[in-house]
Amino acid sequence: MDGISRDLSVEVNGRRYRAPAQPTVVVCVDGSEPDYTTEAIRAGVMPFLEKALATGADLRADCVVPSFTNPNNLSIVTGRPPAVHGIAGNYFLNPETGREVMMNDPEFLRTGTILAAFADAGLKVAVVTAKDKLRTLLGHRMKGICFSAEKADKASIAENGIDDLLAFVDRPLPSVYSADLSEFVFAAGVRLLETKRPDIMYLSTTDYIQHKHAPGTPVANAFYAMIDRHLAAMDRLGAVVALTADHGMNAKFGPDGAPQVIYLQTVLDAMLGEGATRVILPITDPYVVHHGALGSFATAYLPAGADAAAVAARLSALPGMELVLDGDAAARRFELPRERIGDLVAVSERNWVLGTRADRHDLSGLDAPLRSHGGISEQRVPLMVTRAVTGLDGRRLRNFDIFDVALNHLAGAA
Ligand SMILES: [Zn+2]
Repeated sequence: MDGISRDLSVEVNGRRYRAPAQPTVVVCVDGSEPDYTTEAIRAGVMPFLEKALATGADLRADCVVPSFTNPNNLSIVTGRPPAVHGIAGNYFLNPETGREVMMNDPEFLRTGTILAAFADAGLKVAVVTAKDKLRTLLGHRMKGICFSAEKADKASIAENGIDDLLAFVDRPLPSVYSADLSEFVFAAGVRLLETKRPDIMYLSTTDYIQHKHAPGTPVANAFYAMIDRHLAAMDRLGAVVALTADHGMNAKFGPDGAPQVIYLQTVLDAMLGEGATRVILPITDPYVVHHGALGSFATAYLPAGADAAAVAARLSALPGMELVLDGDAAARRFELPRERIGDLVAVSERNWVLGTRADRHDLSGLDAPLRSHGGISEQRVPLMVTRAVTGLDGRRLRNFDIFDVALNHLAGAA
């Protein structure tokens, strides 16, 4: 932080954040249900994290519902729920155009980020994501380094603040469906600390492994052992490391191994007539091979004059359904932008998912029993810091408090 005052702070979306006295790395491990780290530590494959948590902070937090990637990553970097930043899913029905579109364009983002504010204040900021879909949102209006592992070969100084990345990280371009994609993110983070020493770095991985492998299984433990090696390297380079997740992950299949799905469009067609309603699945994105676009959260648009409360009551009685709320109640409870959700919000139980119609979900790419997320049952995530923290006073922590915890609550910080 050459020439930057230690007393510097920035205010972002109503909260003040102090500039760190040492490089601070916030890691969002995609789909990291708390049991992943618990089981990996129990198996002895995360020796660094085990030791760090003995003196650091080993907390739990609640993520944003819908427990999907984009709403939560944006909450983490803005410090606020989707009602404030506007990103309520990966995919939505744009009320201005009547079209279903991806919500990964920065035009949908309504607030600035903590990252951009620190960069504007003169700190060195770096962001590395696994998938490119998050890069433009996370790096919106941010000066500094921002690139994805997915498109590392295409990075340029003009667009990403860095180029020649495959040589820099000394790894080949990873496949988008691989554990390598996340390993590239960590390896890049270590190299950035070694060479450019950003004051603040945000790393965001992909949940490819978590969608296929339960906590404590050999592949999952190998993945977390990889993470541990990189966290240890960052610690050796003098960084404070804070780790959370965008959402958890649960098994979504029955005793026979088949997915447990409520096909909501089929149910609503039978109830209110074919074509009368429109079910939107905000998990939808271009990379659906590993979950078939099946998650535990859906929203539905009803015809004008429909009795939303009555429909909600009937849907609530379906086996596997946890909760159905009308749009107003859902926006209040989950702090969502009302105009970006439908007339109903449905959340399925822990081991169930919601679909539209069976013929619209291609499950042929599922080579393991379905694991997914989106619901209230995937809300619990880790919030860990490699240093002790203080002054949280037992408040309900959210994953989007992680910058507050890591920057404002380190024990012993001036
Ligand atoms: Zn995710």
